[in-house]
Amino acid sequence: MVKDYYKTLGVERNSSQEEIKKAFRNLARKYHPDTNPENKAEAEEKFKEVSEAYEVLSDEKKRRMYDQTGHVDFGPGRSDFTWQDFSHFEDFSDLRDIFGRIFGGGGGPDSFFSGFGGQQESLDLLTNIRIGLEDAFYGITKTIKYKRNAPCNQCKGSGSRDGKIRTCSTCNGSGQQRIVQGQGFFKMVTVTTCRTCQGRGRIPSEVCNVCKGSGSTSITESLEIQIPKGSQNGLRLRVRGKGQSNLGQTGDLFVVLNVADENGITRNNDDLYIINEISFPEAALGTVKEIQIFREKHELKILGGTQPGEVLRIKGAGMPHMNGHGAGDLLVEIKVVVPKHLTSAQKELISKLMDDNGKKHSWLKG
Ligand SMILES: [Zn+2]
Ligand SMILES: [Zn+2]
Repeated sequence: MVKDYYKTLGVERNSSQEEIKKAFRNLARKYHPDTNPENKAEAEEKFKEVSEAYEVLSDEKKRRMYDQTGHVDFGPGRSDFTWQDFSHFEDFSDLRDIFGRIFGGGGGPDSFFSGFGGQQESLDLLTNIRIGLEDAFYGITKTIKYKRNAPCNQCKGSGSRDGKIRTCSTCNGSGQQRIVQGQGFFKMVTVTTCRTCQGRGRIPSEVCNVCKGSGSTSITESLEIQIPKGSQNGLRLRVRGKGQSNLGQTGDLFVVLNVADENGITRNNDDLYIINEISFPEAALGTVKEIQIFREKHELKILGGTQPGEVLRIKGAGMPHMNGHGAGDLLVEIKVVVPKHLTSAQKELISKLMDDNGKKHSWLKG
């Protein structure tokens, strides 16, 4: 199926870059998962579609290719857009939160990592951690494992066995190579990354035998991540110097937290919400209930005459504030359970509560 990127962004075929950018920004906000709680997955899919369209139309080269052929290659022979192909995160710093959320909701370990940064190939890495509400309540240390290019131990990232570096003679230090194809009139000049120096412009005079001159080696990194008490869903933790390493430079790792409600406890900012079932006599006469939130127990006094659906508040029993001071509240919704099966003795007792053979009840109005 041919994709209509112009239609996806709702712009004309001759739209300016300014208009395309504006359209993308509006749609990105529209498909924010927070504003689409009913159909999150669909909104994320839409968000990815508009991002793909923007990636193509915002790049004159890709746009021309698309205009001429109706499709774009994102990598060698690859027409499927992935988040690694999106190169405009920095242009939309006001939408960072959205990107964070989208990545936070990512799939399996293979979709964990995406470039996240500037126009250049970013050295930053992004991963997510899923935890339950209880872990967020108490805080937890999680170990994550991921692959990255780390600076070569042998040459300290220089790629050179003896530390000496010289200018690449293939590209004269520019890092780029011009390849001329065809003859006579029909010449095509392609500028590619210099193969000799991989775009660095400089090469080691004597290549490091461990990293073969690249300056980095692929390792499986294992990191302990401290997740603070009261962590919010979507929180982004930065671990400096644990991203990709290249040319002696190393990016950062960003860890996005995914906090899921659990055990029937839901969260609204730092307040926790739970439903507690009580019987009709308890609601009518009043009672004291023990409410357990994770490992914490609280006494809840329910006054006689409490109505179904009433919400009682236990101050300070909610999520700890992330600043380390105090906590939100615990809200307990009272659900009064009407018995479905009664013994005849119970039936008799309850029918005594009815006045005038059930036609009128003294506690109902009117
Ligand atoms: Zn070179
Ligand atoms: Zn090395």
